[in-house]
Amino acid sequence: MSAAAGAVAIPLGLCLPAAEPAKPKVEYGYDDTPFLPNSPWRVHDRKRPQPPMVNPGTAGQTVQPAVPPSDAIVLFDGKDLSQWEGGKAEGIENGCINILKTGELRTKQHFGDCQVHVEWATPAKADGGAMSWGNSGVLMLGKYEVQIIESRDSHIYADGNAGALYGQHPAMVNPARKPGQWQTFDIVFTAPKFEGERLVKPAYFTVFYNGVLVQYHRASLGPMKHKVLATYDSKETKGPIALQQHGSAVRFRNIWVRPLKLEE
Ligand code: MG
Repeated sequence: MSAAAGAVAIPLGLCLPAAEPAKPKVEYGYDDTPFLPNSPWRVHDRKRPQPPMVNPGTAGQTVQPAVPPSDAIVLFDGKDLSQWEGGKAEGIENGCINILKTGELRTKQHFGDCQVHVEWATPAKADGGAMSWGNSGVLMLGKYEVQIIESRDSHIYADGNAGALYGQHPAMVNPARKPGQWQTFDIVFTAPKFEGERLVKPAYFTVFYNGVLVQYHRASLGPMKHKVLATYDSKETKGPIALQQHGSAVRFRNIWVRPLKLEE
């Protein structure tokens, strides 16, 4: 009798890991946009692989907003928009910013190299199509975007999901929580450096999304662009931190920044 014939039959599926939830079909993206430099992928390439989904566990999860470090500049603590310009105060609801109602916000103070903490939540139910449900973003120098968008129950092109440097670099993995749940970004940003008109050092991003590293010392190609290749068409090295209003009622709470002195 062969070993195979004597083997005890194990019902299929008994020892198999639970199936991952099926990813929604990606129907968005482009095949006529410019290629990214040194990359086989186009800007917003519809064929670019989606980052694999990761359950973040409880990393970075805060039931209540976490207390900021003592040297942080608190940009929003649930009370008012005194640190921001351009916002409507009636957009503060239950201690949270509703960006659809405040409108785009930009800090009054300008920052260069810094560490930023932002807590955000996409609407629990879709308030737009995949391109707009939960769409917002954190824009360093008011221009360099780390994307916010509903990315667990909905996906767009890889370089447009949450944690992406929009239109440039997808997140390494996708640790999105459920729509409506609070999520965190912890961003280390270093500003670009110029000698006259010449770029001598690009902007860099390191991003933890729900406590999971999704961008590591990632060089930015320039300020955020849609469907075209980003370039350093801005020579600014300091600017506001902006929260994007993109037609969805994304909420924010507990926002703080620590300016960094990395080089003299
Ligand atoms: Mg956005």
